[in-house]
Amino acid sequence: MATNEDQLKKVIAHAKEYGFVFQSSEIYDGLSAIYDYAQNGSELKNNIKEYWWTAMVRMNENIVGIDSAIFMHPTTWKASGHVDAFNDPLIDNKDSKKRYRADVLIEEFIGKIEAKIDKEVKKGIKRFGDDFDVKQFKATNPNVLRNQEKIKAISDPFKEAMSLEDLEGVRQLIIDLEIACPVSGSKNWTDVRQFNLMFGTELGSVAGDAAKIYLRPETAQGIFVNYLNVQKTGRMKIPFGIAQIGKAFRNEIVARQFIFRMREFEQMEMQFFVKPGTEMEWYNHWKDARIKWHKSLGLGEDAYRFHDHIKMAHYANAATDIEFKFPMGFKELEGIHSRTDFDLKAHEEHSGKKLKYFDNEENKSYVPYVVETSIGLDRMFLAILSNALHEEKLEDGSERLVLKIPAPLAPVKVAVFPLTKKDGLPDKARDIIDELKIDYNCQYEEKDNIGKRYRRQDAIGTPYCLTVDHQSIENNTVTIRDRDTMKQDRVAIADLSKIIGEKVNLRNLLR
Ligand code: ATP
Repeated sequence: MATNEDQLKKVIAHAKEYGFVFQSSEIYDGLSAIYDYAQNGSELKNNIKEYWWTAMVRMNENIVGIDSAIFMHPTTWKASGHVDAFNDPLIDNKDSKKRYRADVLIEEFIGKIEAKIDKEVKKGIKRFGDDFDVKQFKATNPNVLRNQEKIKAISDPFKEAMSLEDLEGVRQLIIDLEIACPVSGSKNWTDVRQFNLMFGTELGSVAGDAAKIYLRPETAQGIFVNYLNVQKTGRMKIPFGIAQIGKAFRNEIVARQFIFRMREFEQMEMQFFVKPGTEMEWYNHWKDARIKWHKSLGLGEDAYRFHDHIKMAHYANAATDIEFKFPMGFKELEGIHSRTDFDLKAHEEHSGKKLKYFDNEENKSYVPYVVETSIGLDRMFLAILSNALHEEKLEDGSERLVLKIPAPLAPVKVAVFPLTKKDGLPDKARDIIDELKIDYNCQYEEKDNIGKRYRRQDAIGTPYCLTVDHQSIENNTVTIRDRDTMKQDRVAIADLSKIIGEKVNLRNLLR
């Protein structure tokens, strides 16, 4: 079986070879943690967006969508806390000149000890099979216990230093644990410094400090500052939501793991405005609704877990992550946060404008509380792609690479092949495409034998391949081949749209 790292490498290679994701500016050796979506990737990405937008905006009468600008007034980021507190602790190795996130160095160190525990557990499972009691083993095995104590001895002071922003304490832990730079192997570290993750630039027409503006690090603030405009012009009544999909930018220090952590990425966020005191009810509602949305994709019930935050961000009174089982392990895919009235109150203070909602039923004004759902589009893309990639051994001994992308999200829905390039078969194939292409993204292929064409379509996840042969000319039928079962049936051309729709329509996921 492929190791996790191998699996991620395979996904990256596949994404490049089959036109999903390219390194940005590759001819100039690329730009770290910046990626371009290629022909199949952008189709997949658009389909994910559509799935999200339909589920959030179209299917909820009380949620509307907006598209706010990337640049915002600089005071926005003062109010939101990003200017003062959107920092990562970083440390440089003096020999390699490489820069690391100090907290990540320590987390990775802990991760290695955790891996040792996992290895012990796996050994036990291998030896004793189904009878093996993992819980009891972890509670009694001396090696496991020793490693658990080691983890505690590191994570307790680590958490304390992080919560007190004790940067010297964090550095001391790196020194005490004798963590070495993976590049130079040296333990020659600088001090730990706070590093702001926002990208700054200047506005053209103003000089000096006033000109400094930021590329937004999250889309949420564009919603907060517009909430009253939307509420009034849309005659929205609380509770209501505002959704948006858009780019966000963060100058991430540790930018590895492909599109999991990028410097330019896309978020799909929804801020739900509620009456103060009802926020926990809505927080639970959105936790439920969002996990259902994920699970409808059929990527596996055990591919998700909630990770509730114990230590909350300054603006939240409840927060959880939906974590997904990526090739690198369980990692955050989406955050659900009860943000209280922190943001709106802060914008009131900094702008001097009232941001209160008048509640007709209660006959009073208040600043609403906000529950937000925030998902990274690129992480969602990686979740789908990494889950979809399968190498299968076929009955005849050959192998195939297949992307089992949920059919409604597949970049190409139907590929149409004329069996040969003669006898009017290409024209017939094109006629079929002309009929189908309004509803479904189609591809025409006539090169190579049918088997090879199937392989190419499997590798990009096309749910259906149609072959036009001589019988098609005689009786208006084609063979339709299913990506997953590889079964072929002969069907009437007139029925194609309906048959294909049954599987690839977004309705199947949304219902
Ligand atoms: P992390 O802890 O992984 O840095 P975060 O908690 O800072 O993430 P949020 O600020 O809650 O993330 O952002 C909401 C969502 O945006 C995340 O759940 C994630 O899917 C996505 N996201 C955040 N940062 C990045 C990034 N650098 N690249 C890609 N997606 C990101």
